[in-house]
Amino acid sequence: MAMYTHFLRDIALPVGSRMVGYGEVMPYLRAIEKSQWWTPEQLRELQNQKLRKLIAHVYKFVPFYQDVMKERGLTPDDFQTTDDLVKLPIVDKFVLTNNYPDRIRDQSIPQSRLIHAASSGSTGERLHYWTTRAQKAKKWAGLFRWWEMVGFDFGKPYATFRLTPNRGFMGWPLAEKLEWAMLRHVWLSAEAMTDDILEEYVRQIEAAQPVMLRSYASTVYYLARRMLDKNLNVYVPSILTTGETLTDNMRATIAEAFAPAEVFNEYGGDGMQIAAECHYHDGMHINAETLFVETVRHGQRVPEGELGEVVLTNLEATAVPFIRYNIKDVASLTNAPCPCGRGLPRLGHLEGRLTDMFVTPDGHWLTVHQFSGFFEHINAVKAFQVIQKEVDFILIKLVVDDSFSEEDHQAIVDRFESYLGPNNRFVLEFVDEIPTTPSGKRRFFISEVIQGTGNTLGVSKLVEPA
Ligand SMILES: [Zn+2]
Repeated sequence: MAMYTHFLRDIALPVGSRMVGYGEVMPYLRAIEKSQWWTPEQLRELQNQKLRKLIAHVYKFVPFYQDVMKERGLTPDDFQTTDDLVKLPIVDKFVLTNNYPDRIRDQSIPQSRLIHAASSGSTGERLHYWTTRAQKAKKWAGLFRWWEMVGFDFGKPYATFRLTPNRGFMGWPLAEKLEWAMLRHVWLSAEAMTDDILEEYVRQIEAAQPVMLRSYASTVYYLARRMLDKNLNVYVPSILTTGETLTDNMRATIAEAFAPAEVFNEYGGDGMQIAAECHYHDGMHINAETLFVETVRHGQRVPEGELGEVVLTNLEATAVPFIRYNIKDVASLTNAPCPCGRGLPRLGHLEGRLTDMFVTPDGHWLTVHQFSGFFEHINAVKAFQVIQKEVDFILIKLVVDDSFSEEDHQAIVDRFESYLGPNNRFVLEFVDEIPTTPSGKRRFFISEVIQGTGNTLGVSKLVEPA
């Protein structure tokens, strides 16, 4: 291990993080660096142990779970393995919000130690919940493990597109600059992505020589497209994309602009580091020491390999428990061994957010991949956004250039007619730009039908008008 890496890992970071109450980051990171190589059986046993502890705790200290378990005649003894989780209801953002702030919180933690948190709310609705420093420390450890998986090591330079202020894992504003300098972290501002400053980005990246660039998928994709248009290339070994759906075309474009880069997708949400790709790029390894993942459809678990809604149990979180939390993404699950040797199970296919999908009244799931794959072949279309306004009514916003032809127009109409079938209406709207959300994300799909329905029991209900 290089001297500087050793200094950061074993001296500076443990001391610094302990000083500001995040002492668990480095010990937890060391633990999960080891346990990722355990066998699936060992990992399952670890999950079962953590689950038994979690259920016993929420039964004692969280009013919502006291009531749910009493109503169902359950005691902690009824929960021996993760298979027993099906005895509890699936919850979602609306259930947690309705029980926030007190009914869903761990009464054993004094209010003064609770930290308010909110998810980024990319589609407008925000999830408010409580967390603790210990819990956040584990989240950072989970993140660092993914970074190490793609080639990062403490002390090696890395870069991030800055969208929203981030105070770092020590969470101490005064230490922020020092922390980033020590970690050799370069921030690139993604607020103004104009051609004028494109070359400035490339220059900054060239100067910093980061081993890893982490960015929202669409941000680095737009940058990559512009770089290729202008014949610019800068080498970054690993590009870690996050926050949004990464299509195959986006991956290829990014890899080309930063050639010979390797593009890794990372998946997180609602305060959890959920999964990330290893060098084999065959699905994403789940952060299984912290999270137990189920895939369900119509409220029932689906077999391995089949698409279902991602339902998460955070085995570490009690401040607000996330037990069978439907994060409204769709993926398949696999326990098959990965050639990398990690025992962590994988999400085989991440189809994206439920809000990146449409469910038509006749029950078809349409994914963002189908649409992006189509628009990639129409050069005049510079950007698109598809909005499900009503269950059977779709608005398609398009940014096009001067080369947009009547044939392009007809091709789009034909394609949507065949995708959506005769029972659904759609309109095309030509706009100057697709706005980003307050958190800086660009969304290809927005479903105004899914939001606010409050249902937790499966996709079938999503096809009913809100
Ligand atoms: Zn692997």
